[in-house]
Amino acid sequence: MRPFQAVMLLVALFAAGPVVAAEPGTDVRLYALDCGTIEFDDMAMFADDDSYAGQPGNLVEPCYVIEHPGGTLLWDTGLGDAINARPDHLLDEDGSRFLVPVTLQSQLERLGLRAADIEFVSLSHMHFDHTGNLEQFPQATWLVDPAELAWATQTPTPGSATAAHFDTFAGKQQVMQGDHDVFGDGRVRILRTPGHTPGHRVLLVELENSGTVILSGDLYHSRSNYEHARVPAFNVDRADTLASFERVRQLLETHRGRLVIQHAPEDFEALPVFPAYLD
Ligand SMILES: [Zn+2]
Repeated sequence: MRPFQAVMLLVALFAAGPVVAAEPGTDVRLYALDCGTIEFDDMAMFADDDSYAGQPGNLVEPCYVIEHPGGTLLWDTGLGDAINARPDHLLDEDGSRFLVPVTLQSQLERLGLRAADIEFVSLSHMHFDHTGNLEQFPQATWLVDPAELAWATQTPTPGSATAAHFDTFAGKQQVMQGDHDVFGDGRVRILRTPGHTPGHRVLLVELENSGTVILSGDLYHSRSNYEHARVPAFNVDRADTLASFERVRQLLETHRGRLVIQHAPEDFEALPVFPAYLD
């Protein structure tokens, strides 16, 4: 092959490639996927000091894909693609509207990923709006907090948790004792931050260009929760919640990190628009 032909072949190969090349490299990449939205008529439950009583509001429900040279982690699984199949992609229940306009599966496909390419899946906690698609990953290893699993599977099932998604999970479970370093190099760590639920965790990711990013789980639900240290009325332990607030505050200070409040629409909109990513 002459040099010109080789160049044209390379051009053709690139042109035919996936939208975003998910080639294994040395970088860590963080993708924010749309896994739904909840519209509430009344946000009262999100503060135990009545700050939000009678106010309507929306929470976004992202899922995150973290690509690391050692494998791929899915952090939180959203409301569930089953809602996408309903009329208007909507579940309307008890003064709340649960919307899933685009499926998790279709977004993984845009990254060139099949369910079997997800090595690890982990949940900030086991409320239903984070467990929705867990059963779609039977070939993954579920990194699970033992206190969280015990709480979510107790009878009767605690409010806002539902066994419907996780009792059908068919993959392996790996119990995390204490903080967990997913790939062993400190770049992707799942850190204990109990209080919202007994085994709640946040995800700390070290990125080459963007620095330290902490994905909040439901440690906070909004920017105003964060700024005023408001504790949701349905948290299982107020003192643990405040200790977890302080732990994350110190981590952000030490690392000069960026906090992404997962349910806050403005934090989601500030991230690169999928399939773009942070690295
Ligand atoms: Zn949530």
